[in-house]
Parts: sequence; C-alpha cells; structure tokens
Amino acid sequence: MFAVNVAINLPVKSLFKQFTYAVPPELAFLDSGWRVVVPFSGQKVEGFVVERTAVPAEAAVAAKLKAVETALGDRPWFDEEMLATARWLSQYYMCSLAEAMRLFVPGKSSIKRHAVRNEQGRLLYYAYEERLKEKTVLAYRINAAGQQAWEGQSLAKRAKGQHAALGVLAATGDWQTVQELERQGVSAAVARVLAQRGLAEAGQKRILRNSYERSQQRGEYLQLTEEQRRAVSAVNAAVDAGLHQCFLLQGITGSGKTEVYLRAAAHAVDAGKQVLMLVPEIALTAQLVKRFQAWFGSGIAVAHSKLSQNERGDVWHRMRTGQAQVLIGVRSAVFAPFARLGLVIIDEEHESSYKQEERPNYHARDVALARCRHTGSPLLLGSATPDLCTYYRAMTGAYTHLRLTERPNGSHLPQVEIVDMRRELAEKNFSVLSRRLQQALVAAAAAGEQAIVLLNRRGYSTFVMCRDCGQTITCPHCAVALVYHSAHEDMRCHYCGNTAPVPAECPACHSRRIKFFGTGTQKAEAELQRLPQVRVLRMDQDSTVAKFAHEEILRRFADGECNVLIGTQMVAKGHDIPNVTLVGVLSADSPLHLPDYRASERAFSLLTQAAGRAGRGDKPGQVIFQTYEAENNIISLAARQDYDTFAQEELKARQAFFYPPFSQILKLTVWDKDEGAGLALARKLAFYLQRLQLENKLADVQISGPFPALVAKVRDLYRFNVLLKAADMQPVKEALLNSEFKEQPNLFFDVDPASVI
Ligand code: ADP
Ligand code: ZN
Ligand code: ZN
Repeated sequence: MFAVNVAINLPVKSLFKQFTYAVPPELAFLDSGWRVVVPFSGQKVEGFVVERTAVPAEAAVAAKLKAVETALGDRPWFDEEMLATARWLSQYYMCSLAEAMRLFVPGKSSIKRHAVRNEQGRLLYYAYEERLKEKTVLAYRINAAGQQAWEGQSLAKRAKGQHAALGVLAATGDWQTVQELERQGVSAAVARVLAQRGLAEAGQKRILRNSYERSQQRGEYLQLTEEQRRAVSAVNAAVDAGLHQCFLLQGITGSGKTEVYLRAAAHAVDAGKQVLMLVPEIALTAQLVKRFQAWFGSGIAVAHSKLSQNERGDVWHRMRTGQAQVLIGVRSAVFAPFARLGLVIIDEEHESSYKQEERPNYHARDVALARCRHTGSPLLLGSATPDLCTYYRAMTGAYTHLRLTERPNGSHLPQVEIVDMRRELAEKNFSVLSRRLQQALVAAAAAGEQAIVLLNRRGYSTFVMCRDCGQTITCPHCAVALVYHSAHEDMRCHYCGNTAPVPAECPACHSRRIKFFGTGTQKAEAELQRLPQVRVLRMDQDSTVAKFAHEEILRRFADGECNVLIGTQMVAKGHDIPNVTLVGVLSADSPLHLPDYRASERAFSLLTQAAGRAGRGDKPGQVIFQTYEAENNIISLAARQDYDTFAQEELKARQAFFYPPFSQILKLTVWDKDEGAGLALARKLAFYLQRLQLENKLADVQISGPFPALVAKVRDLYRFNVLLKAADMQPVKEALLNSEFKEQPNLFFDVDPASVI
C-alpha cells in the first residue's frame, strides 16, 4: 500500500511539518499536487499532497495512520513547476510549505465547512463542500438519432425550424448553451422540442465568468521605432529558444513600452505559448488592458483584486486549460496555473504594490523569476524608473538592458520648473498654490487644456493641533496623529480606521484654540476651485472607496468633464491623456523625509512619473515642482528626468552604507500588547543572533536594533524591529528557522522588506 505526505492548509505558523496519511484503494491515483480532505486533530481540513511514499501495510497499521478522506477536483491542482515554485517560496520567505501553497489556491482554501444538524437543532457532524463553484447553464447536444434525422433530411419538409436547429447542433456536435443557440437563430423552445423528441440531449455546460469580456475592436497597427523593434526581437528570440533570460526595458515615460509588451506577447501567443502580464493596479492601467483586449479579444483573462473567488476560479480554469492565452493581473496573478507559460512581463516593475505586506510577504517579481526559471521562460521588466536592484543587475550584465530613449510620437519630455515655496511665504503668499502654478493653471484652463495636481502622501494629512500647547490629537490605539476629514467633519486614524469627533477643547490644556494643520487634498481642492474657469475633480482614498471609482474618475477626466485632477500618488501613474499639458506637484520634497533608505528612490520615481503625465500629445508639457528645498539634488535630477545620474549616485550611497543591492535585508518585527514584553523578546532575538556571531557562525551579518517601529503602536500593539543586513542571508534564515523563534506567534520575518521603518 502507499501513503502520502500532506501539507495541512491551516494558516498556523507552527505547521511547518507535513503529515503522513494512508491512501485508500479508491484514491490510488493520488500523487503530489492533489488537494485532499484529511482528518486533522479532530477536524476535517484541506491539505496538499506533496509526496507519495510506499509504506508496508503492517507499518501503516502499527503507526495507526489515518486515511485520506477524499480528493478535491478532477486533477492535481499543482503541477511540478508550481510545486517547485512553492518550495522555493517557502524557503526564501521563511514560511511553511502549506502557507506557500495556499497562495496558489483562489481564496486560499477550496473547502467550506458547514454544520449538519438534526431536527432538534443538535449538531450531528460537519460536512465539507468545494468552495469553488462552477457555473453551469442549460445546454443541448445532438445525439445519434438526431444525427440520423439530420442526415436523412427527415424533418426538412415537415418541421423546417427543427431541421435548421438540428443543423446548428450538428455543426459542432458539442454542447451548446441556450444563449449560444439563440445567437445562431435557434430558440430555446425549439431546442427543448428536439430534446423531447429524442433527437438531442439536454444537459449542463460549464460557462466561465469573465467580468472583462467587452471590447472587441481590433487594435491599430503601429510602425515600431528602431528601439522598440530591437527590444521586441531580443525578447522574441528568448521566447523562441525557451530561454530563462531577464530583460530590463528601461524607457522614459511615453516611450511606448506598452507597444513592446504587446508585440512580444503576440509573438509568444503565435508560438503557442501563454503570457502573464503583471500590472501594479488594474484601475490605473485600464488603457493597457484595453490595448491588449483590442489585440487578443477573448483570448485575454483579467485578474484584479475585486474578482470574487468564483470568478477567479474561472480565470484560473481558462489559463490552466489553455482557453485563454494572456493573463493580465495584479500581484496575486503570479500564482495562476498555466498550461504552457512562455513569457512573463511586469509593467512598472519598481512599484511597491508587487510586494505583499502580510505573511508570506513575497515579492511578485521574485516569484515570477522562480516560475520563469522553472519553465524556461524569459522575464521582461519594464519601467521608466527601475528598482535600483533591477537597474544594478542590468548594469552588471545579469539582466539584458533594453532602452527606449525617445517618445515615438515626436513629443518631448516636458520642461520642469522648480518653485521655492520659502520665497512665496516671504512674499506673503500663504496659499498652498504658488503664484507660478496659479498662473499656469489659469492659462491651461483658458486654452482648453487639462492639468494634474499631485499632493504627496505625507503632505496629505491634515492633523489637528492645539495652538496654545502644541498638543496634536493622536489615535488612542496607534502612535499616529488623527487626520481631519472635512467630508465627515471628524477625525480618522489611517492605520486602524478609528474615528473621533473634533474635540471642543484641547485634552491637554483645555484651550479652545484647536486648529487644523497641513494640507489635505480637500483643502487644496477648495483653493483650486477659486481659480477662474477651473473645474476640479479629486482622486484620493475618500473619493475612491467604491468599486471601479478610480477608473470612473479617470474616465470623466479624460472625457474632459473637468480640467484639473487633484489627488495623491494615484494621479501620477500610468495613464496617457493627451490633453494634459500641465502637472503641478505641491510638495515635491515631502517624500524625501521618510527615514528609510529607499526614500530617495521612491521620491525620484514619483516625481518622474508625475512629470511624465504632461505633454504626451502634440502640445508641449509644462511641470511645476513646488518645494521648500529648491536646492535638493534629487529634486533637480527628477526635474531633468535624469534617471541614470540619479541611479549612479544613489548606488554609491547604497554601497557605502551596505544597503541593497549590495546586501540583503531581513527585518524582524515583534509586536505585543505589553510594551516591555515586546521589547524583551526583540532583545532576546538580537542577543541570540549576536551570540551566534561571536561563535563565528554568522560572520558577515550586521545586526541593528531593536528599535521601536516608526509607527511604534498600531491597534494597541507595540512594535519593535531588529534589522539584519548580510551579503548572503541564507545562514541567518537557517539559524532562525532552527531556533525556538521559528514558531513564535508574534514575530514576523520580512525578507527583502519594502521599508526598514
Ligand atoms: P509608456 O508606457 O512607455 O509610458 P506608452 O506605451 O503609453 O508609453 O506610449 C505612449 C504613446 O506613444 C501612446 O499614445 C502610444 O500609442 C504611442 N506609441 C507607442 N509606440 C508608437 C509607435 N511605434 N509609433 C507611434 N506612436 C507610438
Ligand atoms: Zn493645548
Ligand atoms: Zn488607530
């Protein structure tokens, strides 16, 4: 007899082990990759088979092996490549194999438990059902008698309608839904009569839900520029050779990267392969999705974060069965099953949304890299401002560097002006809008052109402060200031969602002189509205809570309903609106002040992306950066949109301070309701690592901390970080996974953290 080793699908950190179950004869087909239901500590739970092993029958009896209950689905969920990727993920990100594997299952678990009770309401037992529901509808198929009747023309005279319907069914011989038949002129009633006369079978056919199946117009064909052509043919060659090769496509904003993605994808599809295209957020890349849809029509599947679990299951099904050739999706689409993956493309590869901030905190780019390695597929990374680590790999030859240095439609990069806000203050302009920006906005509006105004995240908060004693009103559960929201006339915590009314008097000194400080988007919106001919549309967290609200706002703006769009970072990214000739950035310096080693990189990238929104059509663009630090080097490099100089300088600093790409970082975060207990655990952890270092077991590791996280308390939990830097982090990971800390429930391992604060 044989047994299987199963990873239990429970999000419990201590379940690093796998468990062995006997396989009953009716499940003899079970092998690695199947999803199963197994008994586990008194419950029935989902598990993933990771291995099949032979066990002598007596040994199984002696070990009192429990048996697998049932198998889920009609085939293994994981193929070898997916299993290999899950194994790599669990090792690299220090999580259990089950935690890694559940990322591949839509909704993370495929079974749902429900209680079965008797008439008196007493619990009898629990039953399990597949969570993923296939959607089926009524369909008809011709049978042998029908085939005869059709060929013998026996209905041709007496019942013309039925005869024609038989012809439609005979044409495919396969199941056709009522809707499909109606499209071919066969009514549901006629189909039903055929079934009643024994000439067709009635049954159910699975249909696939795809909320994106819309436009069908063929894409226009653009003549590629020489640079685009070179990039496309380099990628095509790797696709044809089935080579795992990485490309960095570094192209200035508006240089036509989308066209390169499209042609490379088309080539892979023509070669019979599937393509995964990752984007940071579907709503912000609606234009890219449309362009792809125009080319590939229903060969496209789209996976965004608002899909239901069942819709996602259908998308996965279309990819696995090869019914769709191109999957466009956000971060989690990197876990889709493919019949024959041949190319992965990541647009705006520097975007932080590719990193999952909760356990397992994977980065989609690195998961994609693993999948490409295991399938022999090239990986194409595109950006105007690449992640410095990616850029470094391209500079050192590990990745192939492709460049687009010009805008193909002849438009130029916009001119950027830097306005010194200290001088505005000195000259008694107290508005958040400099006089230069006000003028430019009024002029653009008068000329029938459009403008985008960006307020950076940090400048976005309007906090509430006492004028007399300087006390700010903070969230009682988190160590951050509450933010005033004029729409609700209350204060909100952006970390835990807690709301509170604005107090009538200061909680510290009882003064009644409470003031709002800082510039929120709402306040800036009010100032903009005072300018002549300016009609404002706002896009921020408050205005985009509804489903597809981003898309809707961008569409209204692109349609010219308003001429100024103001908002946080999301207004700066991705879209291509030819009538936008002016971009204003209200506080260009504010993202530079985060105490994080990537602050400059983030700031540079955001400013460049924002500037890149202006002047993409025939009219030249103009950009205004307002700042309190007019002499700041990063702001002037961003104004010149000189990524290479910025990157070279920044890489020097990274090397001097031993930051990535010259080191790897592991951030350990401890949290606890009790501040002292949290700190004690963090100290113990640091001490454990320091001791190993003294014993020469972790030679090249730099250990710093513990120190309180930048936001030292969230939802009443105190947080402490220990930061590790090493050229090779593997020995540290192993040391931690072999220690008592591995199963510590309030300790979080963040491999390659997005920030160190
Ligand atoms: P990026 O993604 O690099 O910022 P896009 O792909 O959005 O740039 O392209 C910018 C504009 O250039 C789009 O309007 C696109 O239609 C146009 N474009 C791209 N390639 C060509 C080409 N070969 N010839 C003419 N126009 C092009
Ligand atoms: Zn006070
Ligand atoms: Zn809070």
